[in-house]
Amino acid sequence: MLYIVATPIGNLSDISLRALETLKSVDLILCEDTRVTRKLLTHYQVSKPVLSYHQHSKISKIDHIIDLLKSGQNLALVSDAGTPTISDPGSVLISEVLKALPQLEIVAIPGPCALITLASVTGWPVDRFLFLGFLPIKNKRTKFIEEIISSKYPVIFYESIYRLKKTLNNIQSLSEKNDIVLEVVIGRELTKKFETIYRGELKLIINQLSELDLKGECVVAIRKIVEI
Ligand code: SAM
Repeated sequence: MLYIVATPIGNLSDISLRALETLKSVDLILCEDTRVTRKLLTHYQVSKPVLSYHQHSKISKIDHIIDLLKSGQNLALVSDAGTPTISDPGSVLISEVLKALPQLEIVAIPGPCALITLASVTGWPVDRFLFLGFLPIKNKRTKFIEEIISSKYPVIFYESIYRLKKTLNNIQSLSEKNDIVLEVVIGRELTKKFETIYRGELKLIINQLSELDLKGECVVAIRKIVEI
């Protein structure tokens, strides 16, 4: 079996009992950065071998993993934080495993995910939303920003804290040109000691953030202001 195991996005206590049971039961844990995953495993006294599998892993690594699964080993895939495959490696591995071993069970062990964590505290109807992953740094960036301001659903995306202010400014400029007023909920360092949520009209939040030296990780939810 191949287990896709979600791990905490900051607060180690957010791991599920099932995730721990699974990590303790498998033969090998596939992870992005062995140093990051070792910390989690050490904290929970899980002593299992790890093997790195990341976005730059070659096809020969995938073949090796498939051989392990063919030999009957049970494996778990984790990422550095959160749910594997959500803006993280894993999809290619799963799709290649399914091609080679169509009968193999791929089992999700659900848990933390930054975008869902933020969505749950927006206070907006999020039965429908658009998730855009990371905004591209160069190519197609404008297209993404157009998609954000034209979306009829709230949009959630991941952004580096170092690009956050610039990105928000870019979005604000384009929305002003189109006479659209936007509001945001930004989750910084979710589940961690310095967790902060910024909420409000985009223009005002841009002003508020301009005073701050931002650090950590962030996820952004944005929508057109709706009249009630
Ligand atoms: N797979 C992960 C998940 O399930 O959320 C996302 C991985 S992606 C490579 C990492 C990005 O997720 C960060 O750059 C940030 O945008 C967001 N993120 C992860 N942890 C976060 C946290 N504790 N607070 C805010 N954003 C976070």
